[in-house]
Amino acid sequence: MVDLKSQYEKIKTQIDDGIQEVIDSTSFIKGSKVVDFQHNLESYLNVKHVIPVGNGTDALQIAFMALGLKAGDEVIIPAFTFIATAEVIALLGLTPILVDVEYDTFNISIDSVRKALTSKTKAIVPVHLFGQNANMQEILSLAKEHNLFVVEDACQSIGSKYMFSDSAQVQSGCMGDIGCTSFFPSKNLGCFGDGGAIFTNNDALAAIMRAVANHGMVERYHHDMIGVNSRLDSIQAAVLNVKLKHLDEYIANRLAAAAYYNAAFANNDKLIIPTRSVNSTHVYHQYTLKLIDVERAELQRLLSDKGIPTMIYYPVPLHLQKAYQNDRYMSGDFPNAERLSKSVLSLPMHTELSERQLEYITSNVLEFLK
Ligand SMILES: *Cc1c(COP(=O)(O)O)cnc(C)c1O
Repeated sequence: MVDLKSQYEKIKTQIDDGIQEVIDSTSFIKGSKVVDFQHNLESYLNVKHVIPVGNGTDALQIAFMALGLKAGDEVIIPAFTFIATAEVIALLGLTPILVDVEYDTFNISIDSVRKALTSKTKAIVPVHLFGQNANMQEILSLAKEHNLFVVEDACQSIGSKYMFSDSAQVQSGCMGDIGCTSFFPSKNLGCFGDGGAIFTNNDALAAIMRAVANHGMVERYHHDMIGVNSRLDSIQAAVLNVKLKHLDEYIANRLAAAAYYNAAFANNDKLIIPTRSVNSTHVYHQYTLKLIDVERAELQRLLSDKGIPTMIYYPVPLHLQKAYQNDRYMSGDFPNAERLSKSVLSLPMHTELSERQLEYITSNVLEFLK
């Protein structure tokens, strides 16, 4: 699905030098590379605070620990996403309230959010799925009207921009109260292990989240709140400093691959190509098709026989996951999420796809659909 090896080979010298510098400095934790990366990402995103942490799931958990919510408070999240979003909310004793997504964009449905609001609702988590921003204009105005926090899950969307009606363009993850991202190796900005970051323009929240990520410590060995230990290490920061310089070029490569796929699959009545939202750029973390009356497992098997990997993101919506079953939800509650889980198929999408590879993939898919 990704080709991290070819990507690495193009920047090998810079990456190897960066890692060697960390080893020579022996400053493995909280070294200057981490501080550099924090500032580099702050200027790339044009956001006041970046807080580097251990991974994207920690980023979400620390965000929720900092909001001062209490057990039973409700947090609205989409039913069609990666499990991490629900997990941290449940772990903290908050109540995840699931809502349906839009069939076309895969993102949280604003009408469903509206219907799910109660007096206990405290926050909304838009997940910018597959690299395209959710409808932030409406989400932010709803949140303002009902006094709710907005925590963006930007784990798949770093570098994507949202266009507000006043024509302001804002980076994904930098619109709500807090944004969270992941540097898992296959993410659009990936390191060589685990990594993540939190974004905010709010000074007070930034100070709390920095402390929470560091054992709740404000002054050395004085712990003002219950915290966790979650850090981006210096070696990962060294890798990210190099790769951040290439992020725009990586996004352009993904867009070119998506354009190739779109052209090859246009006007085919057995599939639907990714729908573009008018207010967001797309960074194609995934290129995800919707199949119509196609034997998905058959297609996957045939492609796999030809050496073409495919993935189903995501095969089971959250309300049908075993760990999240309760009497609040049942099968049929979120028709779009359920329909999508049965019909989506993601094709290889990365920065190194050649025209020859794209031709091979698309011709094999089209051959099957004939
Ligand atoms: C990857 C991902 C996460 C979690 O990130 P990790 O770094 O793996 O913990 C959370 N939410 C979404 C939508 C993701 O894609």
